[in-house]
Amino acid sequence: MKGPMRSAVVSIAFSSLVALGALASPSAWAEDANTSDAVDPQWRMDRPITGYRWVDPDMFDSVSGDPSSQAHSSKIIYLNRCLGGCSIGSSGGFGDSRTNTSFLVRGGTAQITPWNKGDAQWEELVACVTAMYDPYDVVITDVDPGPDVEHFEAIVAGKANEIGEQAGVGGIAPFSCGVINNAITFSFANSSFYADGIDGICETVGQETAHAFGLEHEFLCTDPMTYLQPCGYKWFQDENAPCGEYQARGCDCGQANQNSHRMLKDEFGVGANPGPKVEFLRPAPNSNVSPNFVIEVSAGKYYYGVERMEVFVNGTSLGTATSAPFIFNAPPGLDGYTTLEVKATDVRGYEGTSTAEINVGSSCSTGECPSGRVCYKAFCVADATTEGGFGASCDSDSACLSNICGKDNDGVGVCTDTCELNKGQCPKDFGCLKAGSSGVCWPGVSEDTGGCGCNSADPKGGIASLLLVGFGLVFLRRRRII
Ligand SMILES: [Zn+2]
Repeated sequence: MKGPMRSAVVSIAFSSLVALGALASPSAWAEDANTSDAVDPQWRMDRPITGYRWVDPDMFDSVSGDPSSQAHSSKIIYLNRCLGGCSIGSSGGFGDSRTNTSFLVRGGTAQITPWNKGDAQWEELVACVTAMYDPYDVVITDVDPGPDVEHFEAIVAGKANEIGEQAGVGGIAPFSCGVINNAITFSFANSSFYADGIDGICETVGQETAHAFGLEHEFLCTDPMTYLQPCGYKWFQDENAPCGEYQARGCDCGQANQNSHRMLKDEFGVGANPGPKVEFLRPAPNSNVSPNFVIEVSAGKYYYGVERMEVFVNGTSLGTATSAPFIFNAPPGLDGYTTLEVKATDVRGYEGTSTAEINVGSSCSTGECPSGRVCYKAFCVADATTEGGFGASCDSDSACLSNICGKDNDGVGVCTDTCELNKGQCPKDFGCLKAGSSGVCWPGVSEDTGGCGCNSADPKGGIASLLLVGFGLVFLRRRRII
């Protein structure tokens, strides 16, 4: 085909009550599909989450040119819950997120009432949309980029009548067969049919935002672009599916079918970190633990369910768990520095990973440790007989297990760690040397004075000033052991 049959479409969501009630039959949709040249909008009623309204193609062409040829000008999708209310002006053109105008507002200025589900559910909503889009290189934010930054904007608030739409409309978005830059889409979160949890409104946000990227309705129940439900979690599927609402049809932009995942991936690129964001609840990363400890990991309130959680200790799997709480027993025989890793796989097949390093040993309240260990902050840690251990020579921070290589004025480096003055935290033969507002353990230092007994010819001030440089880096680095 030479181009899209219609250059501009408006997609709208309807409540299920309306959808199940006085809705048009499939034949009526087909009839509407032939009204592309209508000057007045035509409604095509559909499922709970969407319907179409076609608008005069000339309108789009006169405002934005050929949308299908536009590249995206931003990777930001701003979720706006309209705290304090939103004022959206009507626009003769398609409007602009930077100036808070939209052609979907007909006449005057629309006042959108704020998201009415509270902070906790808002965080859930943001997390849900973030997860839905995490396979793609976009940024989901609820901080307004402002008038100087190009961005897509999803208003997730208010009710349909606030912009002059019917009460059954759940969402509305501009649509062309390509990207509409700086588009504002609406998901009417305060509608009564979104009262139960955030799943429905999240799916609507997914669909409305993607309409502005050129994605149309898909006849595939597991995809956010669908009208079909219920079928559990929805995500952008890597599947060539027919377009359509309640029945399969060819796509409006000329192709036989649609692959929503590929379209978003091709448009924006691949996201850097899709999948669950998993963390160690215990032991804490960089902590000292006694043998036979318990490992607990969590993916937090991740939207897509975690189907499989697997934990590894020094590269060896401890097995998998399929439901929270995800708790594993450490294997016997661990001693010294140990690497923990967890892999969490979600229902989409995306895998999130995290690693943590810990020190397995024993407490040393008496100051005594087994051979090869020294007592630091009341726990036995590796001494200089271990590469990078306490007191080992070094030339850079990364050479030390503590990630701190202190150097004297002669440039001689020693693996060390932080301390509080006069607390007896440093190993034997070390003392806590003042460095900035805190201190570092240093060989030969007298603990009570912070004085220098080291073999450098320079006075302690020289050492302290050098250590201070390294000390400042501590907070920028990921410490292995505290
Ligand atoms: Zn839609």
